[in-house]
This record gives sequence, structure tokens and C-alpha cells, in this order.
Amino acid sequence: MKKLLELRSEIDKCVRCGTCRSTCPTFKVIGRETSCARGRVTLVAEYMNGGVGLSETFLKHLKECTLCGACRSKCPNGVDTVAIFAAARRDVTEKQGVPFAASIIFKNLLASGGIMSLGLKLATRLQGLFFRDASAGVGLLSRFSLPLVGSGRLVPPLAPTSFLDLPEVKSAEGKADKKDGPSVAFYAGCGINYLMPEVGLKSLEAVRRAGASVSVPQGQACCGMPAYAMGDIATARSMALKNLEVFEAADADFIVTSCATCGHGLKSLMASLLADSPELKARAEKIAAKTRDISELLIKELGFKAKGRVAERRVVTYHDPCHLGRAQGLREEPRELLKMGPGVVLKEMKNPCLCCGLGGGLMYNNYELSMEIAAKKAENIKKSGAEFVATACPGCIVQLRDGLHRSGVDVKVCHVVELLSEEKP
Ligand code: SF4
Ligand code: SF4
Repeated sequence: MKKLLELRSEIDKCVRCGTCRSTCPTFKVIGRETSCARGRVTLVAEYMNGGVGLSETFLKHLKECTLCGACRSKCPNGVDTVAIFAAARRDVTEKQGVPFAASIIFKNLLASGGIMSLGLKLATRLQGLFFRDASAGVGLLSRFSLPLVGSGRLVPPLAPTSFLDLPEVKSAEGKADKKDGPSVAFYAGCGINYLMPEVGLKSLEAVRRAGASVSVPQGQACCGMPAYAMGDIATARSMALKNLEVFEAADADFIVTSCATCGHGLKSLMASLLADSPELKARAEKIAAKTRDISELLIKELGFKAKGRVAERRVVTYHDPCHLGRAQGLREEPRELLKMGPGVVLKEMKNPCLCCGLGGGLMYNNYELSMEIAAKKAENIKKSGAEFVATACPGCIVQLRDGLHRSGVDVKVCHVVELLSEEKP
């Protein structure tokens, strides 16, 4: 991954045209120059020139970016804004260190499955002390201000047993059998593993229904995207290396994930983090070439067909996760898959690819701003008239549930794979 000093020419490509302003979710809410890509690129350039130091104001504008990439896709000069902002965060983190609470999670928990599983068991027992059920039954509300959580925030309950610890998942640890169609190794990611094991189970079911055999390698780590967004590149790199080794050993035809962010992490970030070693980079590129999002695998590789049973009508709208639509170019595949769900009628919302406000750690860096962005999303979802909003990223699911709850919009949020069967999510 390039350091800030190596991105000088990328910064110089910005001609300050301002095209990126119209598409930026933070500019839509704040409306100031420092809250769009043009302003942020200018600030980073000034930081490199010594014109601005590590002031609170500089850090605030840098950390209020969701790293959604909307500016990059709109930029007529092809400025890699996300690379610039990520490198600036890295530079700052190398000077200031990782925030204490985040460093505990990244270094001691996410990188180590065993410790995390023990911590999860304890946290599941204790969560009633810190949280209460939200009235709508869609999550938990914090009783008082907590590190990284704040107060009054809707959070998903921790799974009583993590996905990787479920007996039916543990029994799928070995190599997938290549005699029974293509072999697929499933990458869970933290969201599915610790918060939404049911999404993982539905994913395995769909892949099997499509005629492939699935393995779930144990020992897989976080994809590294949260640490990358915080600028903690050393931790992100160690996670990438661990996943490289685990998925090489799995030796499957495909690696599949049902998390848009993890998919981007495996397809792009892993090779970039390991680029300091040509040998590791080449191995990471092989992993990337095998990696598919669940909708991409089912539609493009396995020719998935739904059961086709008549069911009650479900009006569904779809939110494009930034890491799937923009980062992986997958917009049609999740929609095609959705339409195969029994009874599903797809009704598009306005601007479905507008960021939900979660990305880049914004829900931790500035929760109120992330919720103001989510409120715009909630308005579009409400206007669609749908009963469900489906998406393809556990992080977006968490953010959309919180945003809809705050806005008083009664629309259920689920993963695309949860609408492939008759049961209601
Ligand atoms: S659209 Fe591109 S060139 Fe124009 S101001 Fe934004 S980043 Fe700079
Ligand atoms: S990455 Fe997204 S939030 Fe950040 S400046 Fe670009 S459009 Fe705005």
C-alpha cells in the first residue's frame, strides 16, 4: 500500500474542478468545502507541505470521510481520492498511535479467533447489563455511554455462538469435495461471525443448493478493512497474511463471502497490503482471482435458480453497499438474485448507491453525522414503499437498522440471501 509521500503526483492530478462535490454524502449534509473530496485533497496537500499540522480541525475533516469512493468514480481526472485519504490516515496513525479502544479490538481480539470467541461468550452474558431491547425488537439500545458505542445507539445483539463455532459450520472445516461440482471456501468476516450467523448459514445453504460443495476454513481472521480505515496498516497487514495462509490451505476453486466489505478486502486490499513483498503480492492476487461475492458466485458461476414456489408478495428495495457497487462493480448480480426470492417484487429507491454513512469508521468518529447521512437513506427507503430493504453487507445492515429506527421508519432490513427462502427474515 502506497505511503502518503508516494501519492504526491496523485494529489497533483486534482485540478480543483469541484465535480466531486455533488456526489459526496458528507458534503450533502455539512455543505462546507472541507467536507468534500476537493477540500480534503487540498487539506492533505497542505498537511504534506507543512501548512497545516496535526490539529483537531485537520483530523476532524479527514476522519469525517466515509471512504465511500463516490468522488473517485465521478472525478474526470481519475484522482484516487480514497488512496490519498487512507494514506493520510495511515500517516497520522503512525504519528499518533491507534486509539486505545480500537487498538484493543484490532490487535488483541479481531486478529485472534480463540480469544475473540472467549470474549464473545462473556460479552453475550453481560450485554443485558449495558443494553436493553429496542421496542421494535430490531436490536439493543445502549443504557449509557460506552467506548466506541456512545449512548442511545441501536446495536445488533451479539450471537450466542459465533458462526465459526456452530457445530454444523465446524463440521464443514475440511477441504470441500471437488467431486461434487465446484469447491467453495466460505469467508465469514466479523459481521457474520459475531453478529449474524444466520446470514452465513443461509449463504452456505444457497451455495449447496446451486450444486457446489462448501468448506468453512477455521482460523480465518478479520479482513483488515476496519483497521485499514483507522490507518492501522500494520494490524491490517497481519490479518491479510493470516487469511492468505488459511485460504491457500483450503485449496478451493472459489472463495465466497456474503460481506461486500470483506469481498473488497480479499479482492483488492490484501494484495495492496502485502505489496512490500513481490512473492506475497503474487500469492494474494491468486486469492483475489478466486474470490467472489455471494451474488456473483451464484449468478455468474453456479447458475443458481430459485425454487420457484408461489409465495406471498414481498416488496423489496435494494441498497447498494459502496464496497460492492462501486468497489467491485456488482450492481446487477444482487438484484438478479433478489428477484429469484419467492414472492419478491423489487422496487428501486432513489439513489440506491448513496453511502449509508457507516464507512471509513464514521459511525465511531462522528456518530451524529453518520446518522444524518443514514436519515437521508431512510427517507429514500420510506418513499420506495417497500416492506423490506435488502443489502449485501452486514455493516450496512447494522447502520440501516439504526438509521431507520432513529427516523421512525418501519421497514425491515435483511441480507439478500435471507430472501431466497420462504421463511421471513
Ligand atoms: S472531481 Fe477530481 S479533479 Fe475535480 S476537484 Fe474533485 S478530486 Fe479534484
Ligand atoms: S470518499 Fe465519499 S465521503 Fe469521502 S470525500 Fe469522497 S465522496 Fe466524500
